[in-house]
Amino acid sequence: MFCPPLDADHISHAARLAVKLKNKALAPLRNGDFRVYEDSVEKLSASGRAGDIAILFDKKQKFAGAGLYDPFSPVRVKVLSNSSSLPKIGQDLLTCLAKEALARREEGFAKTASTDAFRLVNGESDGFPGLVADKYSSALVLKLYSAAWLPHAGNIAAIFFQLLPQLDKLVIRLSRELAKLPETELYTLSDGKLFTLESMEKNREWDGKILFRENGLLFEADLVRGQKTGFFLDQRDNRKEVGRLAKNADVLNVFSYSGGFSLYAAKGGAKSVTDVDFSKYAIEESNRNFQRNMDCSGVKNCVHTGIVGDAFEVMSSLANQRKKFDIVIIDPPSFAKAASEVNNALRSYTRLARLGCSLVRNGGVLVFASCSSRVGKSELFPAVNSAIAESGYKEEIFNVTEHAFDHPAKFPESKYLKCQYARIFR
Ligand code: SAH
Repeated sequence: MFCPPLDADHISHAARLAVKLKNKALAPLRNGDFRVYEDSVEKLSASGRAGDIAILFDKKQKFAGAGLYDPFSPVRVKVLSNSSSLPKIGQDLLTCLAKEALARREEGFAKTASTDAFRLVNGESDGFPGLVADKYSSALVLKLYSAAWLPHAGNIAAIFFQLLPQLDKLVIRLSRELAKLPETELYTLSDGKLFTLESMEKNREWDGKILFRENGLLFEADLVRGQKTGFFLDQRDNRKEVGRLAKNADVLNVFSYSGGFSLYAAKGGAKSVTDVDFSKYAIEESNRNFQRNMDCSGVKNCVHTGIVGDAFEVMSSLANQRKKFDIVIIDPPSFAKAASEVNNALRSYTRLARLGCSLVRNGGVLVFASCSSRVGKSELFPAVNSAIAESGYKEEIFNVTEHAFDHPAKFPESKYLKCQYARIFR
């Protein structure tokens, strides 16, 4: 393996940084918060580099926890342990956290034998604040949202390669903020950097595309250029639910990406599926995914159409043509990345809800999802539901769901995905 410093037990040798905390940091830390903010730091023993092991002390020099230092984020320390005794920070702790994350998923893995793509680590909810690890068949994707993980990515990969011997490829993905850091801070990593096992050096030309299975369906994902880490694993259960509802249905999948919902609908017996996405690459990927599953009779018999275009415009145009569907799925990208964008986001959601219900056949189903963590369930659904009522429709909400099992969300801010299923009546 050659993701530096994959060979070395780097974390055990990483610099230690003593961090003296202000009193206000102590209670949240004791209560399990994974964040130590910049303004809670009283004093540092040195200037501190990204990924240094931060040993936390209170003002009386009493040990308060440990984590990784991030000089680029207002959350200066990503807390790994708040135990009152000094934990063995290093490979041991990371291995232990990784094993716990796998154990948390064991039951779910067993239930989904025909699936080989999962989230292995869901950030702070799995004890790795600022880090996501997804597995697609034999490839591991590490997505870093904090510079604290940069020097440790190789170690994390090595741990998962050891725990899951089927893994032999690694992709590093960096959040937009991290990708902007100067190269000198990136420990030779870059967004989309690929690694393969030594025994696979011949495969050096691997381009980051991979085939994987989800509930028996075969999908491709582009782990380097794709959205998120290549696929929206968090929507797995909703896709399955749509599949259950789709018998003989005409389905409209808005914001379709690579056709996840569409393939499930087709497998579930949909008569037709129409994808809408403004990315031509997404529509092409969806077409390829349909081709790949022609051995499934539902997919073979389903009339599949892809429309490249803006969701709002395409939906308005379909509504003007008086087109109707039995199921309309609306799963937009996050419209509110900052608190200041929440009102605009809500306006977009209500516009989509109005357009969506006008395209549903009487008694058909509107599936409405949002992945904006800043727009909670209690804001989103009332707005969506009043838009539907104001448009003159009645609805029967019959299901509201959240993330799939491999996306545990322990903290309020980790809960981002919500999805509502409603029958729409005139
Ligand atoms: N439902 C998908 C995930 C959707 S991600 C799944 O389950 O896999 C959001 C998608 O919306 C992306 O593919 C992006 O290209 C597309 N998109 C974003 N804004 C859009 C717009 N205004 N019109 C059409 N597509 C849009």
